[in-house]
Amino acid sequence: MRSPADMQTIQIDITNACNLACSNCTRFCGNHKKNFFMDFDTFKRAVDSLEGYNGVTGVMGGEPTLHPEFERFVLYLREKYGERKEENRMIYPQREFIKEIRRREFESHILRKNEDGTGKKSGCGNFKMYGPGLWSNMGVTYPKYYELINDCFNVQFLNDHINESYHQPGLISRKDLGISDEEWISMRDNCWIQNEWSATITPKGAFFCEIAGALDMLFDGPGGWPIEPGWWKRKPSEFGEQLQWCEICGFALKTFMRDAKEEVDDVSPTLYDMLKEVDSPRMKAGRTNLVKIENGMISKESQAPTLGFAAVSAAQPYIEHYEDRFNASNSHLLVQNYDVVYIEEDDSWGVGFNHILKKSDGWILYFDNDDKVSKEKAIKEVNALIKKYILNPGTLHLGNGYKFFSKFAISLREFGFDRIAHCNSFEEIIKAWQKKKIVPLDEITELTKWRRDSIENGKRYIIWGTGLSGSFIADAVENSGGKLMYAVDIDPQKDGKEFYGYMTHQPLYVKEHMDEFDYLLIGHYSRFEEIRKQAMELGVPRKKIIMPYEI
Ligand code: SF4
Ligand code: SF4
Repeated sequence: MRSPADMQTIQIDITNACNLACSNCTRFCGNHKKNFFMDFDTFKRAVDSLEGYNGVTGVMGGEPTLHPEFERFVLYLREKYGERKEENRMIYPQREFIKEIRRREFESHILRKNEDGTGKKSGCGNFKMYGPGLWSNMGVTYPKYYELINDCFNVQFLNDHINESYHQPGLISRKDLGISDEEWISMRDNCWIQNEWSATITPKGAFFCEIAGALDMLFDGPGGWPIEPGWWKRKPSEFGEQLQWCEICGFALKTFMRDAKEEVDDVSPTLYDMLKEVDSPRMKAGRTNLVKIENGMISKESQAPTLGFAAVSAAQPYIEHYEDRFNASNSHLLVQNYDVVYIEEDDSWGVGFNHILKKSDGWILYFDNDDKVSKEKAIKEVNALIKKYILNPGTLHLGNGYKFFSKFAISLREFGFDRIAHCNSFEEIIKAWQKKKIVPLDEITELTKWRRDSIENGKRYIIWGTGLSGSFIADAVENSGGKLMYAVDIDPQKDGKEFYGYMTHQPLYVKEHMDEFDYLLIGHYSRFEEIRKQAMELGVPRKKIIMPYEI
């Protein structure tokens, strides 16, 4: 077990309302007779209590964007953590939405030291994400806050659950499986959730583990520790009574996984009775599977028919590829329809524009003139754009002879109906729009390229690390005028495989091909120091090794 101080994230559970009903949800959504919505004062206290904590402050549900005060909460986070320093690339149309979200998460890793000055205990070595983070299934309320979310959150963990994802049952008691006290203590202390996921704050207090917080909420427990500064510094020896929740929690046990889409909770007899006691609506709806236990094992026929992944372990993949968490072609983030308007520019222009805003559902294609041919061309262009790209409703997209925008843009809301009514032309709207959120559509291809100042034009590079981080760097080399010579990866299975059109080699290859590159880029933030050490042992001079992120 770890102290919350050593965790990458501490969550704030702001609601357990959710638009989905996944199997074995970690918040047990659908089992509560009434959903909770954290009040603003508690949220503020929760955020303030994390002062000095070096990781991510997570906003979590249920689906957090369903909280009626979501916007107020996010604005408080922005006040607390300040505006993001890095360029907000989410203002551009996104073709690879989830990759851009990941790139931003990757860029937000910075060198953070823990209280003991080492940083060693964090899940990611010395590199940690920091600041506000959002966990969302991108339900229908996500698009409403798209601009605000992407202005404020450093990291987003998104899963639209359109593709398969697997959840382990949480409502299983070790006693029902006949696990002895002796065996149990070490299983509990090695619980993968507590060792890899997060502590949490619910409206009822702070908890050493997010599942303990959710169980306390479901079964009307005594609540957590007071939400006061530094609560998260508690060590495992101080977890005390809260460890009782582990007794009725299935995550430390070796069980099975069920596809979220089946919408079934697997429960052991003790938990079955407890759910009955709290009058679980999900149980009443027949979405509960009481598992059959034979000789201390859950019988095969009680387990999920779609196992997905072989065995439960700390490193168990929740979903095979991160990119599968979001299915762009099905996404409701894509603009579905828009209004087409032209308004003569005269003294009543502002009144007419207000009228359009009031009656529009959201997106508006505004023509600069009444010419039929250029109107048809604009419609064709916009249709092609919205088919492939996810657009930020806060951005004013400037096309050739037209503008495309959403009436929900913060720039318009801040400008206000009264001031708009006095405008004589769209030019005045443009002047009031947040400058950084005005994007000429003919520049998208250039604007959305990933570049880095640390890449020198014409220099030769190799990348060590061919995972997602390495792929971001390869894009940056390509777009910044550098030359990628070859890639390096410790994984023998990648030896000889192609990476961005270049060959991947084992580390030893570097030793004999030192003169083929000017710089070695490390494409792995959590193993940076380890890789640097290995490269230097192979003879690469320290000054040739670049960690291409902020440190
Ligand atoms: S989307 Fe998340 S919170 Fe909602 S039911 Fe599924 S697992 Fe639970
Ligand atoms: S057993 Fe459950 S409550 Fe206990 S640490 Fe693990 S996930 Fe948390």
